[in-house]
Amino acid sequence: MTTAIWWLRRDLRLTDNQALHAALQHADSILPVFVLDDALWESPYVGGKRLAFMLGGLRAVDTDLRDRGSRLIVRRGRPADVLAQLADEAGAQTIFAEADFSPYARSRDRAVAERVALTHTDGLAVRPPGTVLKNDGDPYSVYSWFRKTWLDRALPTRSDVLPAPDAIATPDSLPSEAIPADPALPDSVPFEPGEAAAEKRLKAFIDGPIYAYDKKRDRTDLDGTSRISPYLRFGMIAARRAAVAAYHAMENAPDKAARENAETWLSEIIWRDFYIHILYHFPHVRGDNFRPAYDDLAWENDTEQFAAWCEGRTGYPLVDAAMRQLTVSGWMHNRARMVVASFLTKDLLIDWRWGERFFMQHLVDGDPASNNGGWQWAAGTGTDAQPYFRIFNPTSQASKHDPQGAYIRRWVPELADVPDEHIHEPWLMDEDTQQKAGCVIGEDYPAPVVDHKRARERTLEAYKTARGE
Ligand SMILES: Cc1cc2nc3c(=O)[nH]c(=O)nc-3n(C[C@H](O)[C@H](O)[C@H](O)COP(=O)(O)OP(=O)(O)OC[C@H]3O[C@@H](n4cnc5c(N)ncnc54)[C@H](O)[C@@H]3O)c2cc1C
Repeated sequence: MTTAIWWLRRDLRLTDNQALHAALQHADSILPVFVLDDALWESPYVGGKRLAFMLGGLRAVDTDLRDRGSRLIVRRGRPADVLAQLADEAGAQTIFAEADFSPYARSRDRAVAERVALTHTDGLAVRPPGTVLKNDGDPYSVYSWFRKTWLDRALPTRSDVLPAPDAIATPDSLPSEAIPADPALPDSVPFEPGEAAAEKRLKAFIDGPIYAYDKKRDRTDLDGTSRISPYLRFGMIAARRAAVAAYHAMENAPDKAARENAETWLSEIIWRDFYIHILYHFPHVRGDNFRPAYDDLAWENDTEQFAAWCEGRTGYPLVDAAMRQLTVSGWMHNRARMVVASFLTKDLLIDWRWGERFFMQHLVDGDPASNNGGWQWAAGTGTDAQPYFRIFNPTSQASKHDPQGAYIRRWVPELADVPDEHIHEPWLMDEDTQQKAGCVIGEDYPAPVVDHKRARERTLEAYKTARGE
């Protein structure tokens, strides 16, 4: 009887799990293990909502394993110590795990591999780092070229998706700690953890909304995107499974326009792969600008303005709605992420790293690669970034992407009764209208923390100076 350890990290699922599959092919019995890594609990980049979602995912995977005669072993400590100890207890020679590419994950895995044989499998990305390169072997740093090469390779098909095993034999003598009940997932987070919930959400999107994705994806007031990001973050659904679903939707599209919508959605899955590759090939982006030209940028870093941004009281309704959506629900619409990131870096001239950390503390889908990519894109310091001179106007973004202000009214109740014509610029209401709307500026809702026009000019100067222009 041979035993192998299946070490779960960001692959909390049984369907299309290449690490589980490899472990099952290698050994007669499998020890599914999750390590409650001290580093995770102590990191300033981790927040309660994401941790709670992950713990819910562990409970779900434990239930799914028990249905198959197995169970999840949970142990707390340093992964290298815990896994060496478990390998001893179980007489296991090999650990199988889905490769992860953040600098922390790589150094953690190196430490483990020094103690027990560790075999990595694919699965985190549809196409793992190293498989989408230029002809000369260099990595891409421009998304459109990356995407082209990504699409040129053979596409995975439904038959590539590995079914969940029917039964898994696991030694029953090894003790497990309880999955912590704390932190608990607040009711305000609209994501049920687990593979079943992930599959349901993907299916609901692929069965219809994907065909209107292009038209609705930028509207913050509509439910036009898939909202599967938290599930991809923890591998409650495989990225490959999502890509295959997109191809399937493309094949079944009723017309050309519908097919193009599905293609656009696939392009977003490719963006996710792109940022995984960027973090792998350019690990310095974790703490530094991708473009060193901006290393001397003179950030203002005003702590009071930062607090106003974090708490959703900048006086710009779309920014405030988005920040409250984040801190209450643990998720934010993509367009809103772009707007608030631009506002922090370019209107307030606050270092993108501050915003990146705050996002990681609150997002259920907080992901080191996509979040870093998104922030550096917005700040203009990143790979295929928004040019430094393109600065979102928070008011016109709002009238374009939340035309009637429904998103704003939902998240900023102080503005609920503000008339439509003032919803994006409430500071322009006269006193009488403010009284009637129950929203006195400066009392019930703040006046803008900065004047966008002036802030824009200051920022352009700061970026030009950093560039030596
Ligand atoms: C400043 C900033 C920070 C971000 N931080 C994160 C983060 O921490 N985690 C995260 O998953 N996404 C992040 N994104 C990307 C994007 O906002 C979310 O992936 C998206 O809003 C998730 O919603 P959805 O699942 O409905 O997406 P859909 O529009 O349905 O897209 C499907 C999937 O494609 C991927 N995707 C979509 N857009 C992007 C993108 N721009 N970059 C990378 N992948 C993308 C996601 O996995 C997403 O779930 C960030 C974007 C910005 C601008």
